[in-house]
Amino acid sequence: MRTAHSDVLLASAGERGVLCDFYGEAAADTYRDLVEDGDGTSEAQAFAARVHPVSAPVLELAAGVGRLSFPFLEFGWELTALELSATVVAAFRERLAKEPADVRDRCTVVQADMSAFSLGKTFGTVVISSGSINELDEYDRSRVYAAVREHLDPGGKFLLSLELGKPGEPEPMERRQELTGRSGRRHALHVKVVPSEEIQEITIYPADETADPFVVCTHRRRLVPSDRTVRELVRAGFDVISQTPFASSEAGREDMLLVEAVTPAVR
Ligand code: SAM
Repeated sequence: MRTAHSDVLLASAGERGVLCDFYGEAAADTYRDLVEDGDGTSEAQAFAARVHPVSAPVLELAAGVGRLSFPFLEFGWELTALELSATVVAAFRERLAKEPADVRDRCTVVQADMSAFSLGKTFGTVVISSGSINELDEYDRSRVYAAVREHLDPGGKFLLSLELGKPGEPEPMERRQELTGRSGRRHALHVKVVPSEEIQEITIYPADETADPFVVCTHRRRLVPSDRTVRELVRAGFDVISQTPFASSEAGREDMLLVEAVTPAVR
């Protein structure tokens, strides 16, 4: 997928330029450098506060490289981590292989599409993070909700973390910042909001303009307000029984919402 910014970058990189999706094979180096060490402990704890009983198996949708999954496994959960991208699944499995046998035995990794999956079993809890549910458009989100209902035990819960906007601080329309990867390499992150489509266009590329190959990774992220997601859940037949703000980092403000949904018949 091209972004307006990737076109400009690739035009000046000439033959050094490579365009790829952030979750695709060609981006694996950049993805791992930037994402693999992401700390999801505070967010995982917010989920854990709503998981009862902790002994029932948990399904995590679009688990990525395990930012939340590994903290979940530390809580002692039996976890199925579902993820679509083969590159990301490979990175997850590599990370899991380094864990002790007890942790490996409690984790099943499945490569599947969260809007169309059938695992042949049900779960006490299904969880999904904000970045993951907002990967999909409205139609595919409705398919996720239907698939989740199929995979919940009677009395089971669907838990979602959703981002809260900054009060009084609208997202800048365009910004560029530099990030340091775990290898020490510097990456540039360019984010552009496209209000008419309710998306952010994300472009990630080497901060070093002379890099060869000059790998330009792109991604589109949907900007779905949390109250709209809650309305979608209700339309999909869930009762939303709590919405609890929490801070996604230890010292930060309450920037996220933990949404707890159940199906009415089994409440
Ligand atoms: N949940 C993880 C976290 O919070 O760190 C990963 C979040 S990452 C922003 C979104 C993930 O969703 C990516 O790993 C992507 O490959 C995955 N994804 C996108 N569409 C998907 C789909 N249809 N089914 C399953 N996973 C999907």
